[in-house]
Amino acid sequence: PLTPIETDALIVGAGPVGLFLVFELGLQDIRAHVVDALLHVGGQCAELYADKPIYDIPGVPVCTGHELVERLQQQIAPFSPTLHLGQELRSLARTADGRFDCETSTGTRFLARTVFVAGGVGSFQPKTLRVAGIERLAGRQLFYRVRDAAAFAGRHLVIAGGGDSAVDWALHFATDVAQRAASVTLLHRRDEFRAAPAQVRRLAELRAAGTLRVVIGQITGFETEGETLARLQLMTADGGSDTLALEHLLVFHGLSPRLGPIADWGLELEHKLVTVNPATFETSVPGVFAVGDICHYPGKRKLILCGFHEATLAAFAAVPYVDAERRVLLQYTTSSPQLHRLLGVT
Ligand code: FAD
Repeated sequence: PLTPIETDALIVGAGPVGLFLVFELGLQDIRAHVVDALLHVGGQCAELYADKPIYDIPGVPVCTGHELVERLQQQIAPFSPTLHLGQELRSLARTADGRFDCETSTGTRFLARTVFVAGGVGSFQPKTLRVAGIERLAGRQLFYRVRDAAAFAGRHLVIAGGGDSAVDWALHFATDVAQRAASVTLLHRRDEFRAAPAQVRRLAELRAAGTLRVVIGQITGFETEGETLARLQLMTADGGSDTLALEHLLVFHGLSPRLGPIADWGLELEHKLVTVNPATFETSVPGVFAVGDICHYPGKRKLILCGFHEATLAAFAAVPYVDAERRVLLQYTTSSPQLHRLLGVT
C-alpha cells in the first residue's frame, strides 16, 4: 500500500488560478501540494496561448501567457509548493476523520484537510490515434509524451505530428549526443510545420543533410510481428499507400481537455461546472473548494482576474478546516509583520 502524503491543502490544477491560490493559501500560512496532468505549470496560458499578449491583468498592461506564468511562479516561490506534474487526480473520497483521500493516475496518494479544484476546462490529455487496436501498444511502443528520453536512444523512431512537440523531439533525437536515435522519421499529414521558426529552419537543414527523414502521410493501420509493432501502414499525400518500419512511435497530435474524473467526486455540477457558494467558493462538499474556470455561480465570468478573486476568498474560507482555533484576520502585505515573515521579506 502507498504511504499517503499528508497535507493541509491539495490543489488540483496548476493553471494561473491554481498557482495564485498557492500564494493566497501561503498568506494564510497554509502550504499546498499541487497536481497537474500536464508536465508543466500554467494551464491554458501555457498550453493554448503562451506567446500571445494578455491585456487585462490588473496592474500589468500587457504580458504573454508565458510571462504571466513565470511571474506567478516567482510570486509563489516563498511558499515552495510541492508540484506533482504529469499526473491526473483520479479519485477523491472522504475519510472517517474528515480528510480527503486522493490518488493520481501515477499512484501518488494524498490525505488532505482541504481540496481546491482549479481544473479549468479539465485536464489536458494527449489526443490519441484513431487507429483500431493500436492502443494496446501504448506505453510499450506507442507514446504520447516523453517521460524518459533515454529510453528512445539508439532506436528507430517515427514521430508523428507537425507542431512544436513533434519538431522539438525529432530534432532532439536526431542530434542529441547522448540520446541520438538509430533513425528519426517525422511523419505529418502536410509538408508544413507549425513550430518555432528557428526549429523549422533547423528541421529543413537536417532534412537536407539526411540526418532525419520527413514523410508526408497519415497512419491508417499497423502490422505486428508477434506482439511487437513492426510497421505502420500509411495513406500518402497522393492517396496511395505505403508502410514504414519502426521500433517506437511517438505521437504529438495536440492536447484536448476533459473534465474526466472531476465529474465523479460527488460534487454538485451544473453544465459540467462545479457549483460553488460565491462567498467562500466551497462546493457542495464541505472542505472541497472550486475556483477558476471550473466553478459556477451566478454572474461567473471565465477570466483570470475573476479566478484570482475566487482563490483569495477560498483561502480565507479554508482556514477553519486547517486550524479551527485560529481567528481569520484581514492583513495587508504592505504592513503586516506576520505576512512579511511568511513572505520572507524584511
Ligand atoms: P486552466 O488554465 O484551464 O488550468 C487548469 C489546469 O488543471 C490544467 O493545467 C489541467 O491540466 C489541470 N487539471 C484539470 N483537471 C485535472 C485533474 N483531474 N488532475 C490534474 N490536473 C487537472 N483570460 C483572461 O483573463 N484574459 C485573456 O486575455 C484571456 N485570453 C485567452 C485566450 C485564449 C486563446 C484562451 C483559450 C483563454 C483565454 N483566457 C483569458 C481565459 C483564461 O485562460 C482562463 O480563464 C484561465 O486559464 C483559467 O485558469 P484556471 O487556472 O482556472 O484553469
